Amino acid sequence: MNQITGTTRLTGLLGHPVAHSISPMMHNKSFQKLGLDYAYLAFDVLPDQLEDTVKGLRAMNVRGFNLTMPHKTAICSFMDELTTASRLAGAVNTVINENGKLIGHTTDGIGYFSSLEKEAGFRVTGKKMTLLGAGGAANAILVQAALNDMKEISVFKRKNATFAAAESFCKNVATETGCSIHIFEMEDSHALKEEIASSDILTNATNVGMAPDIDRCLVDKSMLYPELFVSDIIYEPRETMLLSLAKNIGCQTQNGLYMLLYQGAASFECWTGCEMPISFIKETCYTK
Ligand code: NAP
Repeated sequence: MNQITGTTRLTGLLGHPVAHSISPMMHNKSFQKLGLDYAYLAFDVLPDQLEDTVKGLRAMNVRGFNLTMPHKTAICSFMDELTTASRLAGAVNTVINENGKLIGHTTDGIGYFSSLEKEAGFRVTGKKMTLLGAGGAANAILVQAALNDMKEISVFKRKNATFAAAESFCKNVATETGCSIHIFEMEDSHALKEEIASSDILTNATNVGMAPDIDRCLVDKSMLYPELFVSDIIYEPRETMLLSLAKNIGCQTQNGLYMLLYQGAASFECWTGCEMPISFIKETCYTK
């Protein structure tokens, strides 16, 4: 553990619950490894305490903090400024305190694409993605893909009460970024097959396949082909049914294990200006 001194800058996590989070271990080990005078703590904050907590953190001049469920959307209204990605996604997972000004960032999408590029050599520029899901994680991925110059994105979402809102979200991101984005009903398996057939990457950002519900998958194997990159942001289990089908067909695949690591690394860099020691953190905080 680093020595806490009179000059140690505080960073941390606000969420509910937070006890399970590996972020404190990841950040504190990184501070220690690089000899940085920072500390990271997790705070269990209920939704109705968020505003007071942010006021307190601002008054104490902390360096910054992360947000996890259920605060990523509500926090936006307490920020002095939002990055373009945060404004478009309507979510913040990282706050930086720049001399009293609180700036809201989102590093979830950055983390996802950094993990694809650095761990699997996949670059988004000019590519087409089929994205399954339109929840918080899917929206962060969609926005970052569009900002990273992905050419086209086809989103599949269940036809339910939130479909119209997802449709207008996609339309707004398309208008603001110039990316070609279309939304389809998940139940339309013909469209799903067609869109996957013309995609470079298929990304599952739904809960389908996550433990304990591990025996399900939203596509069938006739929709997959070896040239397709298949990514599942679920990391428990490490190999979802989707990834298992894709591997059997010969697709390059990646699970969600390192998305969290790279989004944390992007927050770390925002606060400290230093790169997180990724290899060291993989060795000390991750079991494959
Ligand atoms: P969320 O906001 O609740 O969104 C869940 C999405 O999954 C929604 O679009 C929902 O569809 C869809 N979905 C759920 N059940 C479905 C079903 N049976 N059929 C079709 N679609 C279904 O959750 P989230 O925060 O985005 O998280 C989604 C997944 O990503 C989770 O498995 C989570 O563990 C994972 N995740 C991983 C990381 C990482 O670091 N690797 C980070 C964040 C999240 P509707 O829109 O129709 O309701």
